[in-house]
Amino acid sequence: MGHHGPDGLSSMMKCYIIIVTSLQQNCTLLCCESSGKAAIVDPGGDVPAIIDAIQQAEVEPEKIFLTHGHMDHVGGAKELGEQLGLTIEGPHLDDRAMIAKVADSGRRFGMKSAQPFEPDRWLKHGDQVSFGDQQLEVSHCPGHTPGHVVFYHRGVNVALVGDVLFQGSIGRTDFPGGDHRQLIDSITQQLWPLGDQVTFIPGHGSPSTFGQERQVNPFVADTVLANN
Ligand SMILES: [Zn+2]
Ligand SMILES: [Zn+2]
Repeated sequence: MGHHGPDGLSSMMKCYIIIVTSLQQNCTLLCCESSGKAAIVDPGGDVPAIIDAIQQAEVEPEKIFLTHGHMDHVGGAKELGEQLGLTIEGPHLDDRAMIAKVADSGRRFGMKSAQPFEPDRWLKHGDQVSFGDQQLEVSHCPGHTPGHVVFYHRGVNVALVGDVLFQGSIGRTDFPGGDHRQLIDSITQQLWPLGDQVTFIPGHGSPSTFGQERQVNPFVADTVLANN
């Protein structure tokens, strides 16, 4: 277990958000306090800015973790992985076709460097990923994309939820492979059971807690779902 700082949070893993791409995506640098190792979640682009953040944090990057196959989340994965010699884990196999087409979608958004790739490891529900001395649990949360996964760190009670849930909103389901009912089920059946106290870092916008969203989120608050 980690040490507990004055804020009450365990200090064994730190999270730094780097906002990347024209879609303002939250790439997150996870740092293991005990080993000095790091992992990068969803390096969607702006690879030089991500490398700057790694250098500023003075950590040794080990792995890339991906929540889903949309280009604002995976567009920089191949470039970053090759430059730093990192393995790529995730998302779920069901986003494979999407990743294969990432160069096409990238070009449409002016991201010329988005390159397709095959991850070193596809993830499935119940898997764990690790870097340094840290472990995160993997939940398959389809709905926004078929192969979307969420990473949960039990020790610091933080979840990286990609585009499943946002502060005050939920992921879009009008893209190919999107399914609104499935997304609501992923949120209520996979995320809520982790607990109201969990802080989540979404793919876009500000972090929040599951408890806060269960109270005020206009799409998935308990009172909203009870009336549907
Ligand atoms: Zn997305
Ligand atoms: Zn996104």
